[in-house]
Amino acid sequence: MSASTSSPRDRRVSTRIGSIAESATLKVDAKAKALKAEGRPVIGFGAGEPDFPTPDYIVEAAVAACRDPKNHRYTPAGGLPELKKAIAAKTLRDSGYAVEPSQVLVTNGGKQAIYEAFAAMLDPGDEVIVPAPYWTTYPESIQLAGGVAVAVLADETQDYKVTVEQLEAARTERTKVLLFVSPSNPTGAVYTADEIRAIGRWVEDNNLWVLTDEIYEHLVYDGVETGSLPVLCPYLADNCVIVNGVAKTYAMTGWRVGWMIAPTDLIKAAANLQSHATSNVANVSQRAALAAISGDLSAVDEMKVAFDRRRKTIVAMLNEIDGVYCPMPTGAFYAYPSVKGLLGKPIGGPDGSVATTSAELSEIILDKVEVAAVPGEAFGSPGYLRFSYALGDDDIVEGITRLQKLFA
Ligand code: PMP
Repeated sequence: MSASTSSPRDRRVSTRIGSIAESATLKVDAKAKALKAEGRPVIGFGAGEPDFPTPDYIVEAAVAACRDPKNHRYTPAGGLPELKKAIAAKTLRDSGYAVEPSQVLVTNGGKQAIYEAFAAMLDPGDEVIVPAPYWTTYPESIQLAGGVAVAVLADETQDYKVTVEQLEAARTERTKVLLFVSPSNPTGAVYTADEIRAIGRWVEDNNLWVLTDEIYEHLVYDGVETGSLPVLCPYLADNCVIVNGVAKTYAMTGWRVGWMIAPTDLIKAAANLQSHATSNVANVSQRAALAAISGDLSAVDEMKVAFDRRRKTIVAMLNEIDGVYCPMPTGAFYAYPSVKGLLGKPIGGPDGSVATTSAELSEIILDKVEVAAVPGEAFGSPGYLRFSYALGDDDIVEGITRLQKLFA
């Protein structure tokens, strides 16, 4: 072999995996947690998780499940039959969408459902239209599945919601799927029922698939009239994938239980993939999820009251900062202000450092006032910061007060 030819082993990491970026949200969160562990008074607005513990009745179900030897063994890769049945019942109860347990696949969090759905739908080069600002995992999982993510930007002037005209302008012969999420991470935007109907009609007219991420379904404020896409557009049932899970609704991010609901051919394909990749989700977690969704919605109703209060506080305080503009989000637990007015100017007095991008700005605020927020670069929209308001009321006030003083 000549010296100039590299052997397969020299290309140590595959191009496919080597091109995947680390999750920026997890990175900011990890940095904030590490600084906190050193004793620094960091206020972390980075994490996308409720600050409440998992409700007791769910934890008790898990404790009981640990003690039962039947849960110590492998179970069907696609999920416990009783959990699939409960997911179908919960879906009918909460969104009015009737599905069979055979249309359900239980996954290791919503994340695995998203990856497996794209892997099951996409051939190399197939395009997925992804409204931006987008949750950082979508384009990476599309790329991992061999597809191409085509971002369509909707900024604060349109409340971060894409229009059918924008979608149509992005459509090509290779478009196969529309990614849809409402309420949205990172913007908190919620599409109205009429907006969803218009988008659903466009999906149908163009023979596309739609993947709708409903993980924040119960966190909608101000009485916005909205709904589940396949309920509002029933003709899409055969071309629709729903992603959901217990993480946000029951404060169960660490338990890792999500699911996909789709036509049975897609479920079968995704379940085959899962049977080789990870097999069944941990049985104890599945039993906990079963208890969660079989119970009522009082836990999420309580969290929602707190989130609603914090939402109003953080948005009002952010808008008091000169150079920041934050539309009022009506869902999830994120505020997504434009910080374009803060860029290019000295921070903290005439000799202060200047941020030219939101990525630099997020580093400066972490260094100077120990406030962690995720830069818009992570969501395909530089010029913004994402603040999760799933943290204590006092911490929110303290953190944003620090920013108000820094930018005064
Ligand atoms: N979808 C969206 C929009 C999310 O924000 C998240 C969590 N950040 C998920 C799906 C996945 O959640 P999990 O994998 O924890 O179930």
